[in-house]
Amino acid sequence: MVVIGSGPAGYTAALYTARADLRPVVLRGSTFVGGALATTTEVENYPGFPQGTQGPALMDAMAAQAERFGAELIDEEVVSVDLAGEVKTITDGAGRVYRARTVVVATGAAHRTLGLAREDLLSGRGVSWCATCDGFFFRDHDVAVVGGGDTALEEATFLSRYARSVTVIHRRKVLRASKVMQRRAFADPKVTFAFDRKVVALHGDTGGLTGLTLRDTVTGEPEERAVTGLFIAIGHRPRTELFAGRLALDEAGYVVVDAPSSRTSVPGVFAAGDVVDHVYRQAVTAAGSGCVAALDAERYLASVNDQRLTEPAGV
Ligand code: NAP
Repeated sequence: MVVIGSGPAGYTAALYTARADLRPVVLRGSTFVGGALATTTEVENYPGFPQGTQGPALMDAMAAQAERFGAELIDEEVVSVDLAGEVKTITDGAGRVYRARTVVVATGAAHRTLGLAREDLLSGRGVSWCATCDGFFFRDHDVAVVGGGDTALEEATFLSRYARSVTVIHRRKVLRASKVMQRRAFADPKVTFAFDRKVVALHGDTGGLTGLTLRDTVTGEPEERAVTGLFIAIGHRPRTELFAGRLALDEAGYVVVDAPSSRTSVPGVFAAGDVVDHVYRQAVTAAGSGCVAALDAERYLASVNDQRLTEPAGV
């Protein structure tokens, strides 16, 4: 059994399958071990931590828990997969080849970035990609959200519970978001819109974000905005490049599963976490779906073994 990915979905799948004696090998990646949570700071909404915890500590604890039951953790990227047939082969960046009867894909999704200078530096210091995770820290702040899709408007209306003001910055005049989300955002007295604007510079340093420079996308006119929070909601990119042409993907590139199971289009291959889910995207929902994938993988292996036992001799 091989698990590809080391976020909450991958580690939970590893924990369950390790406890079922399937001896999972977890290919964790080489640069982003621990997934998106390993790059966040405070996590206050993962159940079981009344005082909150730190993202990296939470991921280290999940890794240690899976390892305790026999999961083998390997810090290498997967560079190619062959998923057809009963035995799948997975090749890592060091050239090692793994043969597995079942694979859990838990490679997650990357949030799109603006690609601006200081975006990395200010990440976790005012710049965020998750209002559900970080909104609470912006009580009475003036904040902005970039994007014109459902996520941006959902983030904006969520943030209005805490923030003093929320400005949605969108590069066009027409929102991409659904009408119901638009109505909700327009009706929110704390939410205002800056249409035809893009963010061209972030200001601040290790002390936090202090403001933005916007540019009018029609006139080119610059404009300064003093905000201490910026939520970037310009879409996600599921990490599925490895699986194109091998697993059924939807038009946005997410792995298609036979919900509520984690079965993909290929027998023996299961998928969990943000690589499947573009709606909920929470650590706890990812962990839950990792558990589903582990149970599905276990049942799949049991059914393969049953078939062998009942096949006539010589087949
Ligand atoms: P999305 O629909 O792809 O919207 C991304 C937005 O970001 C677009 O408005 C786009 O502008 C803008 N954008 C992209 N790149 C940009 C850049 N470099 N600079 C500035 N703006 C940029 O993504 P999403 O909102 O994350 O939604 C993803 C999917 O999840 C959608 O199918 C959505 O309906 C769904 N979703 C549903 C719910 C819900 O129903 N509760 C909630 C969240 C998401 P343009 O419009 O100009 O392209």
